[in-house]
Amino acid sequence: MPLVGAAGGGEFGVRGADCVRASDGSRGGILELHSGANPESVRDALLDWLAERATAMLEPRLSELAADLGVKYRHVHIRRQRTRWGSCSVRGAISLNFCLLFHRPAVVKYLLAHELAHLTHMNHTPRFWALVADYEPDWRALDRELLHGWQQVPAWIMLTLRNRAQARSAA
Ligand SMILES: [Zn+2]
Repeated sequence: MPLVGAAGGGEFGVRGADCVRASDGSRGGILELHSGANPESVRDALLDWLAERATAMLEPRLSELAADLGVKYRHVHIRRQRTRWGSCSVRGAISLNFCLLFHRPAVVKYLLAHELAHLTHMNHTPRFWALVADYEPDWRALDRELLHGWQQVPAWIMLTLRNRAQARSAA
């Protein structure tokens, strides 16, 4: 059942009605929930777990790529967003969406290179794109894949994030 979806070479799934078991294929990357939990708390636990797995996957890749490219960022934040894959602040703080977990490594690497290029150019001018092309020659195709990439994210995650954003703006 694709409650959680397939991601980054790992397997996320649900086994049986009473037990939700999700694994991303790595040591420690296992979440198990047993019956008795209400749907809302199961959703919360899954989202927390996915955010943890995203942190474990994204942070080392970003620091490795930054070292390869010879650039330095200040912080990295993993965010639960439904409209942006990543961002980079003027202070050098990079934010990455935990839903990147659902993309193949080449796409993730492109997004990381894109945000790291913003450390040099805080805009989307031709000079910025020239630097991105330097970092990732195949950037056009990867950028297009990311543009349609929300379809890769399990529907329940998008729905939960949307409902929560609406609840926040109504409050
Ligand atoms: Zn950008």
